[in-house]
Amino acid sequence: MPKHIFITGGVVSSLGKGITSASLALLLKRRGYRVAMQKLDPYLNVDPGTMSPFQHGEVFVTDDGAETDLDLGHYERFTDINCSKASNYTTGKIYSSVIARERAGEYLGKTVQVIPHITDEIKRAIRSAATDDVDIVLTEIGGTAGDIESLPFLEAVRQYVLETGRGNAIVIHLTLLPYIRAAGELKTKPSQQSVAVLRNIGIFPDILVCRTEVAMEEDHRRKIALFCNVPPELVIEEKDVRHSIYEVPPELAAQELDTKVLDLLRLPVHRLDLSTWDEILDSVLHPTRTCRIALVGKYTSVRDAYKSVYESLEHAGIAARAKVVVDSIEAEELEESTARLEGVDGILVPGGFGNRGIPGKIAAIRHAREHNLPLLGICLGMQCIVIEFARHVLGWADADSAEFSASTAHPVIDLMDEQRKVTRKGGTMRLGAYPCILTKASVSAGLYGAETISERHRHRYEFNNSYRDDLQKAGMRIAGTSPGGHLVEIVELGDRPFFVGCQFHPEFKSRPDHAHPLFRGLVNAALDHAAK
Ligand code: GLN
Repeated sequence: MPKHIFITGGVVSSLGKGITSASLALLLKRRGYRVAMQKLDPYLNVDPGTMSPFQHGEVFVTDDGAETDLDLGHYERFTDINCSKASNYTTGKIYSSVIARERAGEYLGKTVQVIPHITDEIKRAIRSAATDDVDIVLTEIGGTAGDIESLPFLEAVRQYVLETGRGNAIVIHLTLLPYIRAAGELKTKPSQQSVAVLRNIGIFPDILVCRTEVAMEEDHRRKIALFCNVPPELVIEEKDVRHSIYEVPPELAAQELDTKVLDLLRLPVHRLDLSTWDEILDSVLHPTRTCRIALVGKYTSVRDAYKSVYESLEHAGIAARAKVVVDSIEAEELEESTARLEGVDGILVPGGFGNRGIPGKIAAIRHAREHNLPLLGICLGMQCIVIEFARHVLGWADADSAEFSASTAHPVIDLMDEQRKVTRKGGTMRLGAYPCILTKASVSAGLYGAETISERHRHRYEFNNSYRDDLQKAGMRIAGTSPGGHLVEIVELGDRPFFVGCQFHPEFKSRPDHAHPLFRGLVNAALDHAAK
């Protein structure tokens, strides 16, 4: 039977519970354990797929096509273990299953209630991650202790811990020690109160991880331990890291968080091998080169909206021992003039939905094409590459995506027949991993070093095959297609070192110790540009 670790959060949101959970999972994996991770989110959306990136940040897509919370991106990047549909449950998803069971008559005449029916469904969700091939399941509970919405989840955790028994399940509470600058003091009261909230509902955290700006004193540790009912050695400090989130795992290992967890779970402590991780950090901390990449998007004010894209650029930097400076530019700012792009070494146009910002993205792509700058267009970015090429190289001024213009005579990006029939929004895009066959002698094939690849998708519109010949004749290379050639997956401009658009989202598969080939391609070309 797998052991369980539950991670809750207190005081405020955005404490970095996902990164803390992922860091612990990495340490346990590097001590030889098979780990699985999941996130339980208290909001009512069935998944974050229909939420605005302003609200929720990026939607992370798994191989099996689940649209999930961005914390799953941290899980995958830190542990290099792929998540699945069983890795993210929301209140909406839990209630949908309970209501479906009720309609199917499965509750045999009973009144259906939060306890036990919703909590049973949550426990089933937790159990679904506890498969035979896993030693330890880490379950992060979204939200903050004290939220009305998280109550059923916390109640399910209480029951789960009780039922699994001592030594088989533990609760780690991540909390904040605010630093009052004027008084020069770290405050422990909010943490005491958030632990009191948990105790009220029957959860007794085994370990406290305290986020703090400044180092904790022995006194703080003793005070927190006494008031929060944990031994002082199980109060762990998680100080803000200076350069990169990839510093968190070694920091936690230095305080033996992982071995303390294993002791509580009554599991043997094997040797920790963080050698490859140390190499990553060494490269992050001591870059030898630098380049500047413009990220031209429409949610640039929210860093989380392009989380995996930023991370992937950092990974490519790590691989090249280079610092990648990302200049986030609102696409709308480029509509009048592309002056903001002066001095950049490469451009990245990420995915997105809807009309806003399209002219600016197209202007950025045109700038890259005309100034011979490295360019990576992802999903909507690739679609904009095709539109820009059709408009300015083929001279079809009205070329557009059917997403933005119903009346264009040149819908170079359009819906496929099966998508035309779709009437619902949630979960109906082309989602998850699909194979792609690369064209020999293309830039992409060279970078991947493979003929067949698999990449994750999240989009409705596709390259319109009616225009394939015209675009190819004018110099656009089809560098990757679905097996059989029906769907265009990658376009390139043949005569460039790196001018690539991909219909899929490479950012979901990049890892700190193996940067994604397309991001490596962009960053290496940008480094060459910077060196000129
Ligand atoms: N809006 C485009 C589509 O649905 C692109 C989606 C994306 O960039 N993820 O096809």
